[in-house]
Amino acid sequence: MSDRRKFLKTSGLIGLSTLAAKLMGEEKISALEKLGEQENSGKSFTLPKLPYSYDALEPFIDKQTMEIHYTKHHQAYVDKLNALPSGNIDFSTDDATKCSNIDKSTSAIIRNNLGGHYNHSLFWQLLKPNSENKTNLPGGKLASAITKEFKSYEEFKKEFSEKATKVFGSGWCWLILQNGKLKITTTPNQDNPLMNIEGNEKGKIIMALDVWEHAYYLKYQNKRADYITNWWNVVNWEKAEELFNTQ
Ligand code: MN
Repeated sequence: MSDRRKFLKTSGLIGLSTLAAKLMGEEKISALEKLGEQENSGKSFTLPKLPYSYDALEPFIDKQTMEIHYTKHHQAYVDKLNALPSGNIDFSTDDATKCSNIDKSTSAIIRNNLGGHYNHSLFWQLLKPNSENKTNLPGGKLASAITKEFKSYEEFKKEFSEKATKVFGSGWCWLILQNGKLKITTTPNQDNPLMNIEGNEKGKIIMALDVWEHAYYLKYQNKRADYITNWWNVVNWEKAEELFNTQ
């Protein structure tokens, strides 16, 4: 580029930004510049690190299922999001906010893959190894809130297990906090309780259970109820309590 053209381009930009600053105020310009930086930094989705090894949840969730679930299924949601034309995703917000901005007008590809990525990222954190098969129960304020809402932990476990078992086709079962009350709810496909979808029970997610066949079929085949029974052994109650306490 010639010096003259470079000069014209630079002075033109300065002229524009001065004009824009006058029209919009300095604050908005600075926000626009920030947005520009984010676009230029090539933001994309990444597969979060699994907090344990593939075989760590044995014998309750098997190594092969974990490896395929994480490296193939979760990775596919991430890849599909990253293959979207730039500008389709607003990278100025966190993933929870991105989910809460989803409604019926959102394209299926964004709804399904953003949900898929968000739900699995949370699901991995809400599991923890228990190879010694120790009794695995909630504690702290979450345990008290469960007893208060569902009469007893056993009643809660029964209701959650039943609802998870009855999800028709692919979906998720959730424990959410809705207006200060714990509630068990389910969603189809990769929807979640953050999304603005009609018929969706909205709330803060405390627990998440993936009941897609890919989550259990290799070990449990058609016996989803057995997968759910065993899943209780590897629930990460500390993480659930953390989510509950940061309401
Ligand atoms: Mn899954």
